[in-house]
Amino acid sequence: MRVFKLKDQSLLPAFGIQMASVDAFSGTADVGAGYGVIEPEGVTAFHRHDECELFAILEGDGVVEADGGDRIAVGPGDLVAISPFDKHVLRNTGSGKLVFATAYWRDAKTAVTEAEKGASAQEEATDPAAEAPCFVFSTPPTPNGDLHLGHLSGPYFGADVFARFQRLLGKTAFHITGSDDFQSYVIAKGRQLNKTPQEVADHFSREITETLDLLDVQIDQFTLTSHAPDYERQVKAFFQSVAASDSVQRRADSAAFDPTTDAYLYECDIKGRCPTCGSGSGGNICEECGEPNLAYDMLDPVSTQTGATPVVRPCERYTITLNDFADHILGAMRESKASARLQALAERVLAREAFHVPITHPQTWGISPTDPDMADQVFWVWPEMSFGFLYGIEALGQRTGHDWKALEPQDNWKFVHFFGYDNSFYHTILYPALYKAAFPDWHADIEYHVNEFLCLEGDKFSTSRQRAVWGKEVLTPETVDCVRFHLALTRGEVERTNFSVSALQATNRELIAEWQGWLQALGDEVLERHDGVAPDAGDWSVDHQAFLQLLEQHRQQIETCYGSAGFSLNKAAETIRTLVRDTIRFAKGNRHLAGHAAAADRHRTTLALQLAAARLLADATAPLTPRFSEALRKGLGLDPASVWPRTIELLPAGNRVTLSDQRFFSEKVGENVAPIKVTDAA
Ligand SMILES: [Zn+2]
Repeated sequence: MRVFKLKDQSLLPAFGIQMASVDAFSGTADVGAGYGVIEPEGVTAFHRHDECELFAILEGDGVVEADGGDRIAVGPGDLVAISPFDKHVLRNTGSGKLVFATAYWRDAKTAVTEAEKGASAQEEATDPAAEAPCFVFSTPPTPNGDLHLGHLSGPYFGADVFARFQRLLGKTAFHITGSDDFQSYVIAKGRQLNKTPQEVADHFSREITETLDLLDVQIDQFTLTSHAPDYERQVKAFFQSVAASDSVQRRADSAAFDPTTDAYLYECDIKGRCPTCGSGSGGNICEECGEPNLAYDMLDPVSTQTGATPVVRPCERYTITLNDFADHILGAMRESKASARLQALAERVLAREAFHVPITHPQTWGISPTDPDMADQVFWVWPEMSFGFLYGIEALGQRTGHDWKALEPQDNWKFVHFFGYDNSFYHTILYPALYKAAFPDWHADIEYHVNEFLCLEGDKFSTSRQRAVWGKEVLTPETVDCVRFHLALTRGEVERTNFSVSALQATNRELIAEWQGWLQALGDEVLERHDGVAPDAGDWSVDHQAFLQLLEQHRQQIETCYGSAGFSLNKAAETIRTLVRDTIRFAKGNRHLAGHAAAADRHRTTLALQLAAARLLADATAPLTPRFSEALRKGLGLDPASVWPRTIELLPAGNRVTLSDQRFFSEKVGENVAPIKVTDAA
């Protein structure tokens, strides 16, 4: 036995306070111990860890703050237990030192159990806050062209599946997007087509909504920003709140101009190389590294309309100083769902010195600030979009009987953003800063789901080069499920991925041969042996029991992949594909008992379990391929899915099964796609 005089230990800075660690068991046991001192007004750094921890307060007064914002007062004699991954901080609220002793150890089983809880979508559904509305935003598309599969595979498809799954969990979830009419790219397209920006926006926003419909994307609110009632007045009011922040100023900073036409150059008016990574880039954002630029600071800049080298001179605009919001943005991101790539981008951008980003630009197409001398400028369309989401909530509320106010965002609103990596800066850095500037007291709860580019046969999709597979080329009511399943398998999630028509057609062949082939054979056998009525399970073999367990494992895995923490359509689709393959293998392995009178009870169980697998397949595909899900449930004598299954359920015995002549997939997928242009650079 040894006794440690804690007060004699030498203290070192750790976790934002002074700590000493005590080698209680001479490094032989997996238990750590320590001693900590927090000065008045001090607080430990926010953290989560995988160890179990117990700490005892020895001296002073404080509070522990837990997940969900609970605060509990603690003093001498109190013992605090921290489970793995519990967010916790200890704050000194007294006038003297707060002193504590701590012990912590790894317990693998507890850590895994807690991690499962954290990742489990089911767990979220039991949250009493489940009634709070969840607003799922996908970046409003720019109406300068129709949508191709690169666009569709990203935010729109992701947000659609996410919102559908949340609704199956019983949550109040809405998909909100719109048409980003005031983009400068709309003006550029108008010049090309000899049309006004309004004509261009109106034409392509119609095309875009048609294409989203063809992909079966359910949208609860689609805001046309150049037509939405009261939108302009509210945008101006929002910006007045933003401008009231000390971090928002009118500044005459450098800007790029065309020396021949004197045009102000930003976004598509200027191109060059990204000042951060050196890749070819347009003005204001680099698609490669995701970092913003200020247009005038690009390397080798060229005015796209005249080919002239821009000149740089000061131009007074409204700007926001992003550094002022660094702690707020990074702190919120660490606590929320945000990928490592997003966190790294925010760390880099917010480390820039005095980063003043213009939020108005000299321009006529858009909404002008109220300042009389700013009538020749408009709010930059990206900051405008940050308000557009709030406007969408109010407009949706008016139609659904909710008194939601765009200019009074609520703490219980959950925001989920879906966007491509090239728009990360706007969604994850600029918007939280603008919201903080406009509504300092609002605790915005925002999570981020980012996708990477889906490339087309080895090179980027390109609207301007007309190198794309357009949604309308491949989407029909007969092909949409195959396209959705293929996009789920192949969309870019952690890295860029590739699309090809031949791979889409291979997926279609798989769906016909494996999914449809198995379901038809199952339908045939139920018809032949049980007059087309689902049999009850009879005698269970060890193999049957193991298969039931396997189905439950697949169900749990799919639930995790659709849920917020583990959201991945790549993995959801892979697991669903494995579910079908495992069931085909199970059916093959157990077919030998078919037709043996003595084993009829056992073979009934084989059929009942295949029907349970088919039922799981129908439920698991409800968010992903809703038409297939509905058709399969109908073939099993079930209504369309309305609730996510919490366990594996057998199909009720006696249900009419009509699978033997069901055709779920069309033979004709991708036949009308125009030949893909060969890359210019190749
Ligand atoms: Zn770059």
